[in-house]
Amino acid sequence: MSETCKVVVVGGGYAGAMAANRLTQRDDVAVTLVNPRPHFVERLRLHQLVGGSHKAVVDFQEILSPKVRLVVDTVERIDAAGRRVALKEGGALGYDYLIYAVGSGSADPSVPGAAEFSYPIASLEEAQLLRSAMDELPRAAAVVVVGGGPTGIEVASELAEQGRAVTMVCGGVLGPYLHPQGRRTVAKKLAALGVTVREGGDTRVTEVMSDAVRLAGGRELPSALTIWTTGFGVPKLAMESGLRTDALGRLLTDETLTSVDDDRILAAGDSAAPSGMPLRMSCQAAARVGAHAADTVLNRLAGARPGPLDVGFFGQCLSLGRRDGVFQFASKDDNAIRWHLRGSFAAKVKETTCQKSVEHMAQEGRKPGSMTWRRDDERQQRLRDASHAGKQAA
Ligand SMILES: Cc1cc2nc3c(=O)[nH]c(=O)nc-3n(C[C@H](O)[C@H](O)[C@H](O)COP(=O)(O)OP(=O)(O)OC[C@H]3O[C@@H](n4cnc5c(N)ncnc54)[C@H](O)[C@@H]3O)c2cc1C
Repeated sequence: MSETCKVVVVGGGYAGAMAANRLTQRDDVAVTLVNPRPHFVERLRLHQLVGGSHKAVVDFQEILSPKVRLVVDTVERIDAAGRRVALKEGGALGYDYLIYAVGSGSADPSVPGAAEFSYPIASLEEAQLLRSAMDELPRAAAVVVVGGGPTGIEVASELAEQGRAVTMVCGGVLGPYLHPQGRRTVAKKLAALGVTVREGGDTRVTEVMSDAVRLAGGRELPSALTIWTTGFGVPKLAMESGLRTDALGRLLTDETLTSVDDDRILAAGDSAAPSGMPLRMSCQAAARVGAHAADTVLNRLAGARPGPLDVGFFGQCLSLGRRDGVFQFASKDDNAIRWHLRGSFAAKVKETTCQKSVEHMAQEGRKPGSMTWRRDDERQQRLRDASHAGKQAA
């Protein structure tokens, strides 16, 4: 390796920006962050962008260490053997280590008509498009939100608070992550906002049309505008570069976040599948896993053994419009427990969470190595148990 170690971080989201900043602890590490936009996207706030209360972008200058070189471009291919990445605008970047942090986006909708007639909200550009469509839509027109997860709940609340006529079709249960008590609270709050919630298997959307959605039970619901929030997919870059991934396309790594194919490639955030047991796609995990990926590189450079992944969760924080919210507490291994916060206090907690997720990154840029997190020291035991159970079943 040359005297200066070149690290390329692909993707400047919560995981990539955090990893890039943390790597600046060593002066002999040259960090390049490749991201398609010149600004950081606060994906946590994309429903606010749709509702018009936030732009959901922050200038990278506010959060990146001046030691990080930002290249505004898209990586088109990873050449693992040549330790290079090819850029869309032409040219290539060489690396000694690469951190793969390309995040997630909308899942490819396989439902007929969904791609043509519905609006996803997983990326900045999608949310901007949806916002323009909302501006054109008459106030009383029927809006259908497909999907009962956190994104669906948040966008439905945001629009209902503005007096829109919103129906959520969950295709199953509302808020599958939530504890039944938390779910009851969310259902009550949605009802108070005027959102009609349709739950159950027969509410799965089987077709989207320009003015309606068809449900598995055969019913049609009028919809002047349909919003698609049925989960996230990930970019295919790792798969197309010949690296092993899980079925969704997340890069397969060991517990140090190192690719199972190449010890110079690591992964973090929504696009990582450590031991094939990925953490829930969330900003909550992404920033911490990004920090852990940086630590693995720094440990290797220091001749130390990198530690296994130990990131624990707090729960799920939902905004229900601008004045209300629910904070669902969870065990560190991410199972919802019976406690939750609600009301304006939970709304404030959510707002603070959004602000802190950016502030923590900026803090890491000013003081690399300062990020700490809730540890999940039982993950390794769970992995051993799962592997043991797998062997027994075989
Ligand atoms: C409306 C909404 C609300 C949400 N609310 C919450 C919440 O309250 N709490 C929570 O924990 N999570 C929330 N999430 C999920 C959270 O935003 C994601 O899990 C998180 O952004 C993942 O971080 P990441 O760094 O892995 O990826 P991302 O934030 O997606 O960043 C990945 C970056 O990589 C870039 N990229 C992709 N491909 C390439 C390439 N080939 N070359 C270069 N760059 C590339 C992308 O453009 C992007 O900038 C929400 C998501 C949405 C859409």
